[in-house]
Amino acid sequence: MADKGTLYIISAPSGAGKTSLVAALVDKLEQVRISVSHTTRAMRAGEEDGVNYHFTDRNTFVQQVEKGRFLEHAEVFGNLYGTSADWVAQTLRGGEDVILEIDWQGATQIRKQLPDSVSIFILPPSLETLAERLRGRDTDDETVIQQRLDGAQDEMSHYGEFDYLVVNDDFQRALYELEAVLEARRLITARQSARLAGTLSNLLAKR
Ligand code: 5GP
Repeated sequence: MADKGTLYIISAPSGAGKTSLVAALVDKLEQVRISVSHTTRAMRAGEEDGVNYHFTDRNTFVQQVEKGRFLEHAEVFGNLYGTSADWVAQTLRGGEDVILEIDWQGATQIRKQLPDSVSIFILPPSLETLAERLRGRDTDDETVIQQRLDGAQDEMSHYGEFDYLVVNDDFQRALYELEAVLEARRLITARQSARLAGTLSNLLAKR
């Protein structure tokens, strides 16, 4: 449908700055919303139920999977995560764009079901920078940091499955690049011709 919103998948290894970039992107652009995922992982300090995630227990999550409530779901670092199918469908139908901040496994499932979705992978500028960012984040010991780096490299090995690659070296530059992808998709003729129906009929009217 021409006036439907676009579904964006944004993935990144932890420490690449995805959450801050996506929050800044949604602040700058109109008509775009971030999907709030469901998860079985414990709430972290500063997080809020229904805002960062819908926090749930494993049994409830599995029941929701069986009822087909998730557009995609995956296990990441031992916790379950899933995207609400209804919310995404309704928001897109209303003409707004939707961003899913999900991992590569979820991205694979979405691409199969919705080939018109657009996927963006955010990379850190180097492994050294990523390690510094992971170290700076909390007081975890070196073994935990090394495990996170392994996980990050595993996630990054899937970069080639994504439509766009953005390097988050300079935050403002990376934000501009994300914005450019979303703005360009909005100019696609199939979408514009619905929005510009009046203008187009005026431009092409018989003189
Ligand atoms: P965190 O627990 O640190 O917020 O997220 C851990 C990982 O889970 C990140 O890679 C994040 O992108 C991924 N994730 C968050 N929500 C979802 C989701 O709904 N589906 C999938 N497949 N991955 C998710």
